[in-house]
Amino acid sequence: MAIAKVEPLVTARALRGPFDYRLPERLADVSVGTIVRVPFGPRRILGVVVELAERSELPPERLAEPIEALEAGATPELVRLGLWVGREYCSTPARGLGLVVPPGTGGDGPGPRAALERHAALTAEGRAALDGGSRLGTQQRAALQRLLKAGGALAGTQLGVGSGTVRSLAARGLIELSSVERRRRPASVAVGAEHAPVRLTGAQEQAVAVAVEAIDGSRPRELLLHGVTGSGKTEVYLAAAAAALERGRSAIVLVPEIGLTPQALHRFRSRLGERVAVLHSALSAGERFDEWRRLRRGEATVCVGPRSAVFAPVSDLGLLVVDEEHDSSYKQEGDPRYDAREVARRRAQEAGAAFVLGSATPRPESWATVERLTLSERVDGQALPPVEVLDMRGAAGAASPLHPRTREELAHLGASGGKAIVMVNRRGYQVHLSCRVCGHVWRCPRCDVSLVLHRHAGSLRCHHCGHGEAIPSRCDECASVGVAHHGAGTERVAELVAAAVGDVPVMRLDTDTTARHGHGDILRRFGDADAGVLVGTQMVGKGHDFPDILLAVVVDADATLRFPNFRAEERAFALVAQLAGRSGRSARGGTVLCQTLAPDAPAIVHAARHDAPGFLAGELERRRALGYPPFASLVRIELTSPDSDRAQSTAVSLASVLEPTLPEGATLLGPAPRFRLRGRHRRQVLLKGAERGPLVASARSAVEELTKRRIRDVSVSVDVDPA
Ligand code: ADP
Ligand code: ZN
Ligand code: ZN
Repeated sequence: MAIAKVEPLVTARALRGPFDYRLPERLADVSVGTIVRVPFGPRRILGVVVELAERSELPPERLAEPIEALEAGATPELVRLGLWVGREYCSTPARGLGLVVPPGTGGDGPGPRAALERHAALTAEGRAALDGGSRLGTQQRAALQRLLKAGGALAGTQLGVGSGTVRSLAARGLIELSSVERRRRPASVAVGAEHAPVRLTGAQEQAVAVAVEAIDGSRPRELLLHGVTGSGKTEVYLAAAAAALERGRSAIVLVPEIGLTPQALHRFRSRLGERVAVLHSALSAGERFDEWRRLRRGEATVCVGPRSAVFAPVSDLGLLVVDEEHDSSYKQEGDPRYDAREVARRRAQEAGAAFVLGSATPRPESWATVERLTLSERVDGQALPPVEVLDMRGAAGAASPLHPRTREELAHLGASGGKAIVMVNRRGYQVHLSCRVCGHVWRCPRCDVSLVLHRHAGSLRCHHCGHGEAIPSRCDECASVGVAHHGAGTERVAELVAAAVGDVPVMRLDTDTTARHGHGDILRRFGDADAGVLVGTQMVGKGHDFPDILLAVVVDADATLRFPNFRAEERAFALVAQLAGRSGRSARGGTVLCQTLAPDAPAIVHAARHDAPGFLAGELERRRALGYPPFASLVRIELTSPDSDRAQSTAVSLASVLEPTLPEGATLLGPAPRFRLRGRHRRQVLLKGAERGPLVASARSAVEELTKRRIRDVSVSVDVDPA
């Protein structure tokens, strides 16, 4: 008897398969990765076949048959990867598998479908009729002639006649109708010129040669390509991808965010053509499904996309690239909280593929553990721009969010024309409000954070839950009218910049403005303008590739440093170094200004010198001393509940379950409170140990134990390698 072991695609943590189903003759094609609709108690649900077997533990009469098998399914390789993600990130098999099934595969709705279109083909009788063999109406003749001209076949809608005529032509046997699949093609964003192949520099050629050896397995497969923006990393990826294709293998290129980097996609498309598919969330459901299926069928063999493209259904993977490997978007926020870089590493290992990480500002982990290739110069030979660190302590900072030097350079730009980028850590107008008399601070009722003033929207907003309320004119507590406003977000900085630059247009890029216009629009307008200032959040420092930036400003370079997180230094360094590294490529040179309250912090000092190796050496020493990654692994478990006591007591009991299971030398920190979010009280337990595997195993069994107890109103999430 043929048995399929099926993991139901449900989100509940407590329900876990696989469950056995008997495969009848009509489902003989079912294999590992097939998606089946199965009876499940009183329901019919979708599930993934994770294994085939000869027999079941259950007696035959208790085994049900799947109702049907969907046309599109995952591959056995992806099933293994999905199950690994479920385990490794302490989630469930179903949630792991949910990442590898065709886009649009739902719990009980219809599966994703191809778009069908009616096609008409001219028959021999049709040709004879046109030659005068039989009588034809005017409409009928027109349709047949059009078909003949098109070489004998056309989509039904292109016949140019009504459906009645089409039907009667088919009834007379003059045409033959069939249903064919129509490909829903994602719009290709053409940005910049077509990308003709370039002649690689010596350094690039060397890097490609090593990458090709890694593809062929004649050397270790993991590489870190370190080089500033413009040093030609993308050309190396392109050449390595072409080499993988020549060998009949496929490639995946992960990029941080397609919305910010349409250029990357465009370059791959214009160089490698239709073999390139793209997978990202801005595609329509139909487009996404069709691109996915092109990859699954091998019609496309290169996939470019963000985080989730690591699950692209290509076969025989030869190369997996993670561009801008330092970017935090590679970490998924919801469960499973996977890190696409780790999933990519695993997938490359399993597939025997080369694994290439690339960045101008690599993570300390990659720097310390992965073999390095360096592109030390920009392809155009231009030096990196000098960076001036501006001390905002004391009078300079108290007077205005913009340092006098910043205002001076902006005024200069206003007079001479050109482009500038200004980066601010926060969106909104002002960062928080307080009462001058009683000290009351306006806070979110659902989260323990202060509210941010948005002048354009006319409200106070919580940046964590979206809560909004009216801008107060007096204090809620003491009715005083003295309300003090503190700090400057993008809105206010944009105003101040506009005042300083005069006639040069100022554009704002943050999630408030992209919600209205989209990234593409704003970036294109800025790209096309002769002169302009782009003011925005961290987005402005990522992905953009404008060769003509004369001035780049970081308004609050230390804001990131103040986060209570061991990655704060790494983030602050990347933020400043990335923006600086993308500037000053115009013939007129460039200036970078870095305003900060911490001018002596190593992250700022090294970023100002474009010195990644120097920063990383010091940072790794600090990590070693404090026992942080890569010298230890961390696993964070978070419990949340609307009830504070319940969150606390569950956290205490979790800690006591965990404690005896920890591997030797590992430590448990907490339970510690984290700030309340969306009305939920939070407690966290942090595990720290030498190796990730045993730490994850302890966390997994403790969480499973907790799930069995089904504690009301408490939810648990596990973050392996927390950001
Ligand atoms: P990175 O990915 O490191 O930012 P790119 O590969 O995008 O660098 O290269 C920067 C620019 O230089 C691009 O416009 C690219 O087309 C061009 N370029 C890269 N390599 C060469 C080369 N060998 N010869 C000429 N132009 C090149
Ligand atoms: Zn007050
Ligand atoms: Zn809130």
